[in-house]
Amino acid sequence: MRKIKMVDLRTQYLRHKAEIDHAIQDVIDSTTFIKGPAVKNFEQELAAYLGTGHCIACGNGTDALQAAFMAIELKPGDEVITTPFTFIATVEVIKLLGLRPVFVDVDPDTFNLNPGLIEPAVTEKTKAIVPVHLFGQAADMETILNLADQFGLKVIEDNAQALGTSYRFSTGQVKKTGAMGQIGCTSFFPSKNLGAFGDGGALFTDDPLLGKKIASLVNHGMIKKYHYEQVGFNSRLDTMQAAILRVKLRHFDGYNKARQAAAKAYDEGLSNLEGVKTPQRNSFSDHIFHQYTLQVSGGVRDDLKTHLHEQGIPSMIYYPVPLHMQEAYKDLGYGKGDFPIAEELCNKVLSLPMHTELDDDQLKYIVSSVKNFYNK
Ligand SMILES: *Cc1c(COP(=O)(O)O)cnc(C)c1O
Repeated sequence: MRKIKMVDLRTQYLRHKAEIDHAIQDVIDSTTFIKGPAVKNFEQELAAYLGTGHCIACGNGTDALQAAFMAIELKPGDEVITTPFTFIATVEVIKLLGLRPVFVDVDPDTFNLNPGLIEPAVTEKTKAIVPVHLFGQAADMETILNLADQFGLKVIEDNAQALGTSYRFSTGQVKKTGAMGQIGCTSFFPSKNLGAFGDGGALFTDDPLLGKKIASLVNHGMIKKYHYEQVGFNSRLDTMQAAILRVKLRHFDGYNKARQAAAKAYDEGLSNLEGVKTPQRNSFSDHIFHQYTLQVSGGVRDDLKTHLHEQGIPSMIYYPVPLHMQEAYKDLGYGKGDFPIAEELCNKVLSLPMHTELDDDQLKYIVSSVKNFYNK
């Protein structure tokens, strides 16, 4: 059996080696390392894939979030509602821009924002909601978009973990995550579902004015060569990364299917096991399993992790500390007990290996190793 990895980027690369090597060599031969034609092409292809009017590539997912908040012109002191159970970048950017993150607890089954708790958190300073489609499954966008309408708020989707997921509205309309709010943001960090060979990110919008503004923001606020309309910053997707991502986008639905097949094998093996809860699905979204995350009860999560490690199986805790309890965010004034679901999840979650290259032998071995922890 091949060695089990949390994310197996090498085996995936080897499957498409010829195509990827060719794309890289083309960029080297052209020496258009910055703003080469592959960047525009990739932006157009990804916009078409998402069904959104505009895609603007940038340097990473964190910069995408920063450009999004700058584009909707939030002012210091404005409040942004989001989740305490996410990667730090979501909240870091809000804080860096002088905005105030206001947390709302998550749903214990899906890990996503609990939409019932949003309205009580809205004040006259609230300007935006940032749903994070965590682990590959969409947040309850219909409710969130309706609340945003009602209170005049912007919606910025953090779609770093769910690129490719579809969301079904009660009308039957289907949209991709990242294409529903005013702006969607994503990341091409290598371990993300669509991963580059380095850093990368992108923003999506249907609004042509916002699209223009974002494109200028991530290019020093430039409107035409050496004329600047706003204070921007420098955040670009390298041509080499765009060329690699164009190849991978052609295989992307297959990648997500492979993840779903692995998740199915885990579900079948583990859903009846006392003591662990397999990932629950909501009724309105696909799940493309950026992570396959168990909830382990009985206080034995860390013991299970150690047991798996001894069997040669890596696992990860996403996330061990909720953001409202992080040292750097103390001054927000939150404390233990404020978001009990997020806090409890931090003690229970364990993510199993999840990538496009897990084979049957590996999946069977992981399932039986989890089981024999309980049947020792
Ligand atoms: C990965 C990630 C980001 C940041 O993306 P980078 O490309 O690493 O800057 C933001 N939000 C979430 C939820 C993420 O998982």
